[in-house]
Order: sequence, then structure tokens, then C-alpha cells
Amino acid sequence: GRKFFVGGNWKCNGTNEEVKKIISTLNAGDVPSQDVVEVVVSPPFVFLPLTKGSLRPDFHVAAQNCWVKKGGAYTGEISAEMLVNLDIPWVILGHSERRLILGESNEFVGDKVAYALSRGLKVIACVGETLEQRESGSTLEVVAAQTKAIADRVSDWTNVVVAYEPVWAIGTGKVATPAQAQEVHAELRKWLHANISPEVAASTRIIYGGSVNGANCKELAAQPDVDGFLVGGASLKPEFIDIIKSAE
Ligand code: 13P
Repeated sequence: GRKFFVGGNWKCNGTNEEVKKIISTLNAGDVPSQDVVEVVVSPPFVFLPLTKGSLRPDFHVAAQNCWVKKGGAYTGEISAEMLVNLDIPWVILGHSERRLILGESNEFVGDKVAYALSRGLKVIACVGETLEQRESGSTLEVVAAQTKAIADRVSDWTNVVVAYEPVWAIGTGKVATPAQAQEVHAELRKWLHANISPEVAASTRIIYGGSVNGANCKELAAQPDVDGFLVGGASLKPEFIDIIKSAE
């Protein structure tokens, strides 16, 4: 079976004091065991050591991005090697905010995923369509192309979690309906089945992101192809604990 996965993407938020507060709330939370749910929180780079050092041991840490190849003369970038050096096990790659605001192409994201995996990191690889793409009927084509750019460069999917995050649902309060999420997740799994292997399709976690909160998570989690969540805004609040509990 696919273990339920809940990621908290803090994005570009938080002060030192706020981060300490979030961590102490998480540390006090009563949640299902690690056999039931894998929890990963993703603070901004500068708070990774603080988070890593004070977060409960059953929760894990992810960076929100990393450089596409070995470090060197790339001012402002953080390399996969540095994350490995700090014992950060996970990295989020291809978030729509990086694709759309920072101009990361499907190919660039594919290269990043392949490089991060080659260094031993586990990757939360994000895909998702814009509202315009959904309304023009190209959702499946868009997420397939984003997934293909990864599949073209990656052969071992063991350490990949795919996050389906429709752009129109991110930070808008307009969560996908359970049926909308299930439809795309099932199509993505079908794509993995046809283009990679039945084994990869059966074992790869496909998680949903976009306006997930304590009130809507249960119904989404009940969908057969929804294997967890990538949570933005609500991951900064005590409500994140309720979302983790939807694993049960
Ligand atoms: P929100 O939960 O704030 O909509 O953000 C989702 C997201 O982008 C997680 O990566």
C-alpha cells in the first residue's frame, strides 16, 4: 500500500520567532504513527537548521527548491549537496510558483528532479494546470507533459512523490472538489501505468495540493487515488494537525 503523505509547504513565510512557535505546536500535536502517515514540513532555507534541530523526530524536513546541478558559481542558489550535508532528506521541486513566477520549464524541473534524486534526496515533484488551461480542456495534456519531462530523466521512482496542485486552487480558497482531484489523480496514475510501469503506478504516491484545510481534507483523503496532501497556508496553523489526522 501507499503510505499517506502530508507535506506542509511554508513557502516564503515566517520569522525566527514564528517558526519556533509553529514547531512547538507541531511537536505537541497528537497524530497517527509513522506507520500510518509520513509527515514532511518545508520551511524556507534559512530556517532549515532550526527546524531540523527542534522538530519531533517522527516528522521530516524538506527544502522548497534546490539547484539543478552541482554547486559552484551560482549566486543565490542552494545545492542538493548542501541539503544532503545538513541531513535534509526531502526537497520540493517544480512548484507552480517557481514554474510561473521564476520561469522554470518542464525540462528544467525534470533536470532538477533527476539531479536531486542522484544525490540521494527524496523529491516532492509538483504538477498542475492553470485556470486557463483547465477551461480550455488541456488539464490532462498539461500534467502529462510535466510528468513526462520528469519520466524522461528518471528511471527509479521509489523516492518520488507527485503533488497535483491545480494553480487555480492554490491560495484561493477554491479547493478542487473530491471528484475533480480524483479524476486527475486517476489519470496521472494511468499515465504512469502506460508510460513507466504498472509497479510504479501502483506504488507512487500522488498527493493533492490547493486550499486544503481542516474542514475539506477528510472527503479528499477518502478518494482512492488521493494519497495525501501538500498544504500551504493551513500548514502554518494548528489546523495542520487535523489534516495529518485525515490519514486515518
Ligand atoms: P495553499 O494550501 O495555501 O492553497 O497552497 C498549496 C500549495 O501551493 C502547497 O504547495
